[in-house]
Amino acid sequence: MRFLLSLFLLFQLCLFGGSDLSDFDGYQERWTRPEIEKKLEQFLQRDERMQNFFTLTDEVFTLYDTPISQKERSVEFCLKLIPSSKKEEGSTAKRKNLVGCKIAIDPGHLGGKYARLEERFIDIPPSLEREKAIAFDEGTLSFLTARYLQILLEKEGAEVMITRKRIGEGVYEKDFFDWLKASPELWWKEAHLTTLFRRYYNPLDLRARAKRINAYAPDLTVVIHYNSQEVAEGSASNHSVASSNYNMVFIPGAFCRSELITQESRYEFIRLLVTDDLPASLHLSQAILKQFSSHLGVPVVSKNDGARYLENVCLKLDEGVYARNLALTRLVHGPVCYGETLIQNNIDECQTLSRKDFVIDGRRCSSRIKQVAEAYFDGIKEHLLN
Ligand SMILES: [Zn+2]
Repeated sequence: MRFLLSLFLLFQLCLFGGSDLSDFDGYQERWTRPEIEKKLEQFLQRDERMQNFFTLTDEVFTLYDTPISQKERSVEFCLKLIPSSKKEEGSTAKRKNLVGCKIAIDPGHLGGKYARLEERFIDIPPSLEREKAIAFDEGTLSFLTARYLQILLEKEGAEVMITRKRIGEGVYEKDFFDWLKASPELWWKEAHLTTLFRRYYNPLDLRARAKRINAYAPDLTVVIHYNSQEVAEGSASNHSVASSNYNMVFIPGAFCRSELITQESRYEFIRLLVTDDLPASLHLSQAILKQFSSHLGVPVVSKNDGARYLENVCLKLDEGVYARNLALTRLVHGPVCYGETLIQNNIDECQTLSRKDFVIDGRRCSSRIKQVAEAYFDGIKEHLLN
């Protein structure tokens, strides 16, 4: 199965196309060694073993195509450094309004008819406290949030691109079942549709989203997700309620041990090292998280909430703001905020999110979605205008 997965990933990489590191030649002799060290430490390096792929002196940062353990390795990219900083403080002119600003929105997941397959749904049975079952799905919430955010942004003159066009649809050129029919080599070994969807189809869809966003070349991107929390007994979050409720945001970075193995990931690593995408993503994400707290009345995630992935694979940049090497934080170019609002299976939040007291796109939904969209909107404005 592992061999099959490697073959599949290689095939995907060929489809996505190679990326040429000479794209970053314009960044020669712009950074000092301390600036590069700071970026590596603060944003990029989750595991020190990724240093096996590069060397750093006062004069040059050198990236290799394989780790130091390999006898034959070649230099893939050299970044010439300078002795003292060129950075000019406070020279960037801020916008006066959103007119002409290009914003990409990626509503997470597919939702609708695919919510069960992608395992992004809430279905909480009736109990003593709730006489009715509660059911909704994340892909629908994220899509309606994106649509309402689009309306708010366009009203102020921004240009908006939403990656997927409707609920129950992804971005990859083939629908899941058409893709499945054309990939029999995968399903004769793996019988579970959910595994096929999550392990093989979803990565294709995420790449298609990143490709669409990068072709649009936006001024910034927001990726919209709603979170859930596994309860202590280890039962699925889809069917059981949690007591905590919190918000968090992710930006690119936090490469783990083996995450520089592909040329594609080394390309994105160099991009993040030499451009201003990381500090800009941090600024955008801090602004959005602040608005989540005030619009939604829900706190930023804390240590006691038990979200273990924050300690295992992320780098903390600020309260609730983490670098995390997800497909979309890595592959999307430019400033990006990957938002994870609210715990959908929180005992009170699940009731609020399942209300039908508002309409977006002609669809009855919860006014909570409007609040989330307004929080993104105010955060984007704060980032661009203040
Ligand atoms: Zn999600």
